[in-house]
Amino acid sequence: MKIERLTQIVSYAYQNVRYYKRRMDENGIDPLSIEDYDSLRKLPFLYKDDIQAQPEDFISEEYKKFPKTKNIVLRRTSGSTGKYLKIYWDYKDDIKSLLSLWNYRNRYYGVGPSDKFCGFYTASYQGNKIVEQQMVQKSLDGRYLGFCKINLTYERLRDCYEQMCSFDPKWFNLQPSIADLLAEIVQKEHLALPPSLSYIELSGEYLFEDVRKRIEQTFQVPVANQYGCNEANAIAFECKEGHMHCLTDNVLVEVIKDGEPVFEEEGDIYITSLSNYAMPFLRYQMGDRGILVRDSQCPCGSKRPELIIKSGRSSDYISLPNAEKINAYVLIGIVEYTNEYMGAPIKQFQIIQTGIGCFTVKLVLKKEFSTWQSGVMENFLLNIQEQKLKDAKWNFQFSECILPDPQTGKFKYFINQCKEGK
Ligand SMILES: [Zn+2]
Repeated sequence: MKIERLTQIVSYAYQNVRYYKRRMDENGIDPLSIEDYDSLRKLPFLYKDDIQAQPEDFISEEYKKFPKTKNIVLRRTSGSTGKYLKIYWDYKDDIKSLLSLWNYRNRYYGVGPSDKFCGFYTASYQGNKIVEQQMVQKSLDGRYLGFCKINLTYERLRDCYEQMCSFDPKWFNLQPSIADLLAEIVQKEHLALPPSLSYIELSGEYLFEDVRKRIEQTFQVPVANQYGCNEANAIAFECKEGHMHCLTDNVLVEVIKDGEPVFEEEGDIYITSLSNYAMPFLRYQMGDRGILVRDSQCPCGSKRPELIIKSGRSSDYISLPNAEKINAYVLIGIVEYTNEYMGAPIKQFQIIQTGIGCFTVKLVLKKEFSTWQSGVMENFLLNIQEQKLKDAKWNFQFSECILPDPQTGKFKYFINQCKEGK
């Protein structure tokens, strides 16, 4: 089946984006011949590292010049190497790419763009600078109440939850780990639920079944999983029967095993955005594993392919004194800020919590920064936001490289060696 929007964006990428022009010329690919799911496989795969090596080559030339520069909204996305990617969007494409998700949110769960909701947001950026961060934000139209993800301790989350209750939203848009912590607080302190709450959407992390159950049981509303990324927005969304259907109007999903697309088999998830023209992503590796079910027999009646996500960006916790915990992604922030201020000296990092208030930071510096060790340590410590982490003991180790865990083959940027059940 021909997908017109695919040919459109591939041709656009060929004409306006240096990287795609070069790669398609090298491989003798005619952009107009990419017209359906099968011909998509002519295009080479794209990895985060490719973009990190030459970010400018991925931005449409049109969006480097006036007047299109006026339309740009910037997002950032974390990489495992502690250097984030800046993602460009035309604000109009950004809105358009969410239409399909809104359509299903409304159809399945009865929420629309005018309904009040609450969420948590990451620190925002303007160009290269971190914008002074407000801890709470309310949209001008009074439709959204959000909280900054910095310093999510028990006390702060409890306070956020109280504000959420008085705001009385119709739905929550949360990361599973944050929803789980809120559920824990509600249970422990027997807190009331926001009276109008009728739906919770979870995204941004792998959703474990036990976590979902705890959230559902606590808040007594339907909970749906959404899989997406800053590069392409929503990719798959859960129907009422509990299946994640691909949002085929916005994105094409492939699951690749041994270099070839597979169905009903586990592999690496790749996406092709049909909406992002400012920075096109064609056959882009997500870093998650999954299974694509082509002929979905879902009782919901949708014929769209189903994506079963196998494991994803799971989240870890840092243990604080008094059995408190905060999400370990604050550590990624410290490394990212340090890289931002110093011109990206850190190539690889791993942080090990060896005890309450004790951390070992393993760092690999790029060759040209090898004499900058003391400056990097100093900057790292300056970029810690949370008081309880500022007070901790930080021990630094520098090495040539950090290897993945020998047992699982996976690289973990954070390892908590404190006892479980803290
Ligand atoms: Zn379904």
